Amino acid sequence: MKTHIITYGCQMNEYDTHLVKSELASIGAQFVDSIPEADFVLVNTCAVRGKPVEKVRSLLGELRKEKEKRDLMVGMMGCLAQLEEGQQIARKFAVDVLLGPGALTEIGKAIEAKNRFWDLSFREELTHHLPPAPQGQLSAFVSIIRGCNHHCTYCIVPTTRGPEVSRHPDLILRELEQLKAAGVLEVTLLGQNVNSYGNDQPGFPKFGELLRRVGQVGIPRVKFTTSHPVNFTDEVIAAMAETPQVCNYIHLPVQSGSNRVLRRMAREYRREWYLDRIRAIKEAIPDVVLSTDIIVGFPGESEEDFEQTLTLYDEVQYDSAYMFIYSPRPGTPSYKHFQDLPREVKVERLQRLIEKQKEWSYKKNQQWVGRTVEVLVRGSAKDEGYAEGHDRGNHPVLIPAAQAPRPGLYQVEVKQATPHMLFGEVVGSQEAATIPLMMA
Ligand code: SAM
Ligand code: SF4
Repeated sequence: MKTHIITYGCQMNEYDTHLVKSELASIGAQFVDSIPEADFVLVNTCAVRGKPVEKVRSLLGELRKEKEKRDLMVGMMGCLAQLEEGQQIARKFAVDVLLGPGALTEIGKAIEAKNRFWDLSFREELTHHLPPAPQGQLSAFVSIIRGCNHHCTYCIVPTTRGPEVSRHPDLILRELEQLKAAGVLEVTLLGQNVNSYGNDQPGFPKFGELLRRVGQVGIPRVKFTTSHPVNFTDEVIAAMAETPQVCNYIHLPVQSGSNRVLRRMAREYRREWYLDRIRAIKEAIPDVVLSTDIIVGFPGESEEDFEQTLTLYDEVQYDSAYMFIYSPRPGTPSYKHFQDLPREVKVERLQRLIEKQKEWSYKKNQQWVGRTVEVLVRGSAKDEGYAEGHDRGNHPVLIPAAQAPRPGLYQVEVKQATPHMLFGEVVGSQEAATIPLMMA
């Protein structure tokens, strides 16, 4: 079966696509790069904001037209599939296979059924699943925990992905060993809240201890995302500081700088707690690179509340941020109980926040000029003549292509910086490790 998979959304979805791909490969599927070549198109969906839902709707509309012309099977997986909203869309566009985020291991059965196959259950098998290492890749994801036990009032994820379930540490370590053997140089541990790891399973190590064990596997770079401020314990900070493989990068979503808004969002920490965690992180990891998620224009956010987000940004001095306009999602408490703000208010605040972010990203990136960073080069950049990679702090870095002819790890001196990018040159002959050029 010629299969084409289209993935929207977060890194968890990318990991799930890899998992499903390996299941499909084991039953003989071949993968193609475009819809016209495929006889099975699988769409991995996101439901966190309205925009990705609209994208899926229009893609499925196109696919329904294609189905009218030829024999084509269409599948839908991911968060949207789990929701009534997604199932209505699936019915409207004649989707054949629908798998919720907990039912991915059923993909083989779904194909065999050759008929409409929908499964929205949360299968235990998924927690015990060990996908094979991706081939020819230098960086990879590993899921360590699925689901979310928090109930942020704006967020659909607890509904779509269910409660937290940690994977067995032995399984995680086995997956990492396989990745190391396959030549992977950077691994990102994934979960909605990675630092809740182990809280649901007595006897499992907590996240700090898991980080230490992951470091011992010997993959040179370990990152993780996403962390919840409330679970960012001193032990996690100590494990980061004391495990050389763990990179100096932390993504710690704050969502808002106003306690009034945090309360309405049902985030379980307050501004003071968050700033205390940032202080502890900076003390223990002096070169730490910090990023965050911020929602702008949450219902009831006043100008004063928004200004508190701006002042928090100045206090933390983030290196970068993912900034979102609040999107009311059906099925969430904030959709049901709160009045959305006018769009122009939200857009105007977002623009001011983007200006703030650019200022800080520029200042912070300038601090790396003249220093040497380790860059994982993935391949050539869109800009001709450059190779593109990222450093241990997750900064995108461009290097003259002639200096980094193959993907791998390089020592690079930073020569220039913009708000979005570092530019550098490979120093000496310190090419740390490369693999044959087989990927872009
Ligand atoms: N679990 C992570 C956490 O708590 O930070 C994040 C998971 S969520 C999929 C990723 C980001 O999407 C959130 O941090 C939040 O900023 C944003 N988000 C979630 N729901 C949203 C909504 N209804 N409108 C706008 N942004 C939203
Ligand atoms: Fe959503 Fe909050 Fe859970 Fe993150 S912690 S996934 S924002 S409910």
